[in-house]
Amino acid sequence: MTRLDALLQPRAGEAESGHPECVLLVENSRVFAEMLATAVRERLGLAVDVAGSLAEARQRLDPARHFLVLTGLVLPDASGDEIVPPLARSGVPTVVVTSMLDDETRQRLVRMPIIDYVPKTAPDSIDYLIWLIQRLDRNRRIAALVVDDSASSREHTAALLRQFGLNVREAACGEDALDVLAEDRSIRLVITDFHMPGMTGVDLTRRIRTTHSRDRLAVIGLSGSSHAPLVAQFLKHGANDFLHKPYSREEFLCRVSQNIDNLELIGTLQDLATRDFLTGLVNRRHLFTVGEALFQQARAGRPLAAALLDIDHFKHINDTYGHDAGDIALKHVAKALQDHARPEDVVARFGGEEFCVLAPDLDSAQSHAYFQRLREAIEALQIPLPDHVLRLTVSIGVQSHLDRTLHAMLSEADRQLYLAKAGGRNRVEMATAASEAPAETAAVH
Ligand code: GH3
Ligand code: MG
Ligand code: MG
Repeated sequence: MTRLDALLQPRAGEAESGHPECVLLVENSRVFAEMLATAVRERLGLAVDVAGSLAEARQRLDPARHFLVLTGLVLPDASGDEIVPPLARSGVPTVVVTSMLDDETRQRLVRMPIIDYVPKTAPDSIDYLIWLIQRLDRNRRIAALVVDDSASSREHTAALLRQFGLNVREAACGEDALDVLAEDRSIRLVITDFHMPGMTGVDLTRRIRTTHSRDRLAVIGLSGSSHAPLVAQFLKHGANDFLHKPYSREEFLCRVSQNIDNLELIGTLQDLATRDFLTGLVNRRHLFTVGEALFQQARAGRPLAAALLDIDHFKHINDTYGHDAGDIALKHVAKALQDHARPEDVVARFGGEEFCVLAPDLDSAQSHAYFQRLREAIEALQIPLPDHVLRLTVSIGVQSHLDRTLHAMLSEADRQLYLAKAGGRNRVEMATAASEAPAETAAVH
């Protein structure tokens, strides 16, 4: 699901993404169950089913619907060690939430196939559970790569990451790891052993850092060696963190989630600076940063079309249905733009009800077809308002000829947009050549 989908469609129950979207809460205290279920629904927008006994839990638990089970250890029909194994056998990750956390229970829990155990009584346990549920939910959209020449050690690490909901790729040496990374862009975490034939973990980390920055991809170094300088070597060459083997499941999962949390935090801060809040599209300022790179490629011979789009009679939409309806319309148009765009295109909110699309690799005829299809897609939108289905159109001005600057290309696109408006709206106008050079640079003979 894209950011925009998430914005437009708050989730409830099973999602159309194919991921189960519901938590099963197995709990005999109705008060606690209600409090936690409400927090999960309200703070995370996820659905919650509640079962009051082990029998009910076994009957309701459905891997196609539930991505997580939270269970207590005292139920009317079972207690302690009888509860976890039958639930865990379903393959759905399980977290124990209990008020019985004496040392003996803790020892037993560490050996059970669960992700975590959380004390029910601590005042901040609801906050921790909400964080954990959100982490496990998000992990399902993140991939991790485990690099280790020892198959057993690699599988152990991979199994823990899978339990934690991540999609896991594996590589037995540094070269293979670099190949997997080059081909799979969803990988946000690499966990690498140090001692491997060919390339060491530190060398691999250094190679990774030539293509992937620390704020986009986390690297955690691993080693069974107690050689202290190894930690510093990993960190100096770009690793985000380090773990000694053997590590406990608890320590491992804390480190992994902390590193992924950090990446997301940085991503959020970057998004705040570069994205438009309402639509999630690139904002105007950032458009010129990313657009400049495409413009430089255009100067080197790669075609580039620059287009400006403006919603027709948008003021009328605001005036008739209200400003909130106008905002909903803007989000739907933004989503249509993003759905139409190819991965190499840049789609930005230019301001108000104006958008900009930069599309490389299209000649004049192809860009005309591309923007006609986009215009038609927007004309076909049926935007659901609370008590009305809204239809709208856009006018589009396109400059697909290289000009002196990106700014000049956009000025010409804007002139074409004006012509599209003047020509009756809901149309695409294309520039026939680069805009004229300013008079002072024209040659005088
Ligand atoms: P035209 O077909 O000529 O483009 O007419 P128009 O009504 O679309 O153009 P105009 O520029 O007159 O009006 C644009 C309106 O867009 C005015 C402004 O209040 C509204 N607008 C700008 N930003 C937002 C926004 O973020 N949300 C909403 N709801 N309205 C916005
Ligand atoms: Mg306008
Ligand atoms: Mg307008």
